[in-house]
Amino acid sequence: MTETIPRPREDGAESDYAREPDPLRLLAPLRIEARAIRRGLRDLPEPPTVIRTGYGTTRAAQQAGRLSQDPFGQMMIMGVGGGLSADLSPGDLVVGTEVGPGMGPGMGPGMGTVTCAAAPILAGELRRAGLSARTGRITTVDHLVRRAERAKLAAEGWLLADMESAPLAAAAAGRPVAVIRAVSDTPDHPLAGIVSGGLAALRSLRAAAPVAQRWTAACGTRQVLLAGPRSFCAGVERAIEIVERVLERQGEPVYVRKQIVHNTRVVGDLESRGAVFVDELDQVPDGATVVFSAHGVSPAVREDAARRGLAVIDATCPLVSKVHAEARRFAADGYTVALIGHAGHEEVEGTLGEAPDSTILVQTAADVAALTPKDGERIAYLMQTTLSVDEAAEVSGALRERFPAMRAPGSDDICYATTNRQAAVRAVAAGSDLVLVAGSKNSSNSVRLVETCERAGTPAHLIDGAEDIQLDWLAGVSTIGLTAGASAPPAVVEEIIAALSGLGPLTVTEKVTTTESIRFGLPKEVRH
Ligand code: SF4
Repeated sequence: MTETIPRPREDGAESDYAREPDPLRLLAPLRIEARAIRRGLRDLPEPPTVIRTGYGTTRAAQQAGRLSQDPFGQMMIMGVGGGLSADLSPGDLVVGTEVGPGMGPGMGPGMGTVTCAAAPILAGELRRAGLSARTGRITTVDHLVRRAERAKLAAEGWLLADMESAPLAAAAAGRPVAVIRAVSDTPDHPLAGIVSGGLAALRSLRAAAPVAQRWTAACGTRQVLLAGPRSFCAGVERAIEIVERVLERQGEPVYVRKQIVHNTRVVGDLESRGAVFVDELDQVPDGATVVFSAHGVSPAVREDAARRGLAVIDATCPLVSKVHAEARRFAADGYTVALIGHAGHEEVEGTLGEAPDSTILVQTAADVAALTPKDGERIAYLMQTTLSVDEAAEVSGALRERFPAMRAPGSDDICYATTNRQAAVRAVAAGSDLVLVAGSKNSSNSVRLVETCERAGTPAHLIDGAEDIQLDWLAGVSTIGLTAGASAPPAVVEEIIAALSGLGPLTVTEKVTTTESIRFGLPKEVRH
């Protein structure tokens, strides 16, 4: 049922709001903005209705009064606006993280700030559509702002100014609300450039318009089942702390061979603080300090560092070092080592390097048939620490069938963190329509979590953060499982939950399958 709410009659046209059958209120203040958005929507089978709300704060406040009586589901405000930051260009899109009153007598103290929590999801969706979009705070003013006022608003942390969003957004009253404004003018292209800037902005609005329909399909009441344990393991925490401590003691730059852990957020954060990630030691200046990553290195890399006179601080996870020691021990005893793992992974390359003449990489059960050990009676197996428990069992089963006398490692090579996170995500996948796994594409244990869900019959997606969530994934989904790989920071999980809460009422339930208390000591170089 749709309640009739007339829109402003500034153009004398009959409102199409009354015939509006869907829960979305798609608002555009100006006729020219509404037209651009309608054009962007016209190829959709059932395009949402665009409601013109009128120019300026007074009309926006009047419209908000009408909207407050309307039982709509969610609100999206689209239009153009003035960029406040010099790094914005005409045509860029700003997706509001919050919308609040700025300067002018029309912006009364009673008008609060409205949070648009799903902004990172929307901005990611727009970027994937090829548009230049970023998130930021949007303020509403009651007059066109000049250079000095722009600078003042920018200093207060606002990214864009418009003349309608804050009063309109306030009418959402807790329901999902999104604001997308296209930049028409900037501090470097002020009002003199408004015609060309305005055209660029309208083009962007038109291109952005289809996102409104996907956003409204993704809105709804849902629950999140949070897997526990998730996120950082003891080896990752130790590796990050080592780099932080070296930075603290020696200042920047601190060279790190390979990504310290496989996560773009962690690497980006440490880079911003002075860490320099290199692929090989020849990129490290003579005499510098270099940190080896959590995945470990082969003896050849250690020898190279010693030859170069580099000061080495080793962040290899102790559970990876354990596998290296086992490889050396089996090789010294004359065994051929079948290393179950993935070709090209840094950890596997490091382990292979411990006994290259005695170790053979086995990736699948099919590889087992092709294995030609020197002595079928003296064969042992080891594993990469971050494998899928189920898949690795298949391969080790095939090995045992072919080599019944095969030796096994003293204790499981797949580490506690990998095993625990797979068990935890399996438990939430069973009750979820979809699972989101926070982690980077090159993170082996995160990719295994996605595979674990898929094997359990639940679709899953690997995401670096909320900006990677695709709105289409969420349509019709009422329960989302959520976990994070061992290299993904806990803050990313919080960020994802916050963004999902911007799409409608969200309940979060944690399902803990086990608790972890393992901690590893730091190397002596950074201990005190
Ligand atoms: S995932 Fe396992 S092996 Fe890798 S760093 Fe963490 S604890 Fe160590």
